[in-house]
Amino acid sequence: MAAKTTVQDAYDQVLKRNPGETEFHQAVKEVLDSLVPVLDRHPEYVRAGIVDRLVEPERQVIFRVPWQDDKGNFHVNRAFRVEFNSALGPYKGGLRFHPTVYLGIIKFLGFEQILKNSLTGLMMGGGKGGSDFDPKGRSDDEVMRFCQSLMTELCRHIGPDTDVPAGDIGVGGREIGFMFGQYKRIRNEFTGVLTGKGLDWGGSLVRTEATGYGLVYIVDEALKAQGKSFDGLTVSVSGSGNVAIFATEKVQELGGKVVTLSDSNGYVYDPDGIDLDAVKRIKLVERGRIREYVNAHKNAQYTEGCSGIWDVKCDVALPCATQNELDEAAAKTLVTNGCIAAGEGANMPCTPEAADVFLENKVLFLPGKAANAGGVAVSGLEMAQNSQRLPWTFEKADAELKKIMVTIYKNTSEAAREYGCEGNFVAGANIAGFLKVANAMLAQGLV
Ligand code: NDP
Repeated sequence: MAAKTTVQDAYDQVLKRNPGETEFHQAVKEVLDSLVPVLDRHPEYVRAGIVDRLVEPERQVIFRVPWQDDKGNFHVNRAFRVEFNSALGPYKGGLRFHPTVYLGIIKFLGFEQILKNSLTGLMMGGGKGGSDFDPKGRSDDEVMRFCQSLMTELCRHIGPDTDVPAGDIGVGGREIGFMFGQYKRIRNEFTGVLTGKGLDWGGSLVRTEATGYGLVYIVDEALKAQGKSFDGLTVSVSGSGNVAIFATEKVQELGGKVVTLSDSNGYVYDPDGIDLDAVKRIKLVERGRIREYVNAHKNAQYTEGCSGIWDVKCDVALPCATQNELDEAAAKTLVTNGCIAAGEGANMPCTPEAADVFLENKVLFLPGKAANAGGVAVSGLEMAQNSQRLPWTFEKADAELKKIMVTIYKNTSEAAREYGCEGNFVAGANIAGFLKVANAMLAQGLV
């Protein structure tokens, strides 16, 4: 069968089987479009039905999470774990707690995770999970009761050699701690079943910083290939969570000036450069809102609403908040304002139309699959340390992270060149990630 027909049939089947799951459709379409030249060259993948199997999760679990708030009221949330593909290792991917979570979001993230994990070169399959629970405004006790209830069911499906969840939006060290404690209690096992753990009980140094640092390492590598660097560049970052904060930290270390940050209510613009200590205090210690930044920074402005953030003139854009936050109009504005590079810290923050604008205008565009793989890479290193029962130093973990990000850049650009689309890192990441998974699936037979 011709490669184009294979891809179209697989996509039609995804639309039919997963109605209304628009984010999942979007993620699948982008990958399948890139794979046509690969399937043309490798008819054995077509014969073995690799693409049809890749787009269908190996297993999906949906369950009820009942919990009680501090006033004694009962609540019910819905939780998901999608175990997408285990060709390269145990399922691996984060848990997201956010009111917008539904099966389509978890599937899009789980699907992306297969290829992202493959790109890291570590032994990890792809999965993702989460719940429509909103931790915002909840007390620590409420979050603990929710996490314990969720893990009471989830512990039946995960394990250090089966499926190893981590954090994502709304799931940080606090939530991982509560879930780990409940898993340990029910299973009577102290194992590396979750990553992102506290440093005293199995966590890895650099895991907290990994996604943001990794993003900046790979964008820096791409800039270097063009004889440029972050030094002296103005950078717009969106979000003010884990990824945004540590991307900002690394950009500043490399001599760049970050001028924006945001949350789901609005964004701040500080022409003097973001004061990161103040942001860390507001967001990580006080769990406050980004608007509070302007109280102590006279030249900074706060704007309600998020979309205007990309109107701020910058050399590099690093969207680090959430999916589809940077659309075609925003990409055009960035191009007009002279933006030379965009790196996705978040998962799929640029719409397909925005990505096309960057590609057409020769803006260096590094897609999330490659650019934010640093987080899961250090999660993989955390699993290795847990198996060895030996913690690594910060320097060792950071050096490994950097090496992995540089390798991802090289493999991605080489795959793009080999398949006739030099400079297109979207296609390059999809192809490089896919080839390893496809070969493993082929070797493991029809499972
Ligand atoms: P956090 O929960 O720490 O922070 C998320 C940030 O994005 C917050 O500032 C949040 O604002 C903002 N945000 C969330 N939803 C929206 C929305 N609908 N509109 C505007 N802003 C929003 O999450 P992370 O920093 O961990 O994750 C950010 C992105 O990076 C996600 O796409 C995640 O999947 C991806 N990612 C994260 C990794 C990690 O290691 N943490 C690894 C790889 C990818 P508010 O506080 O108002 O909700």
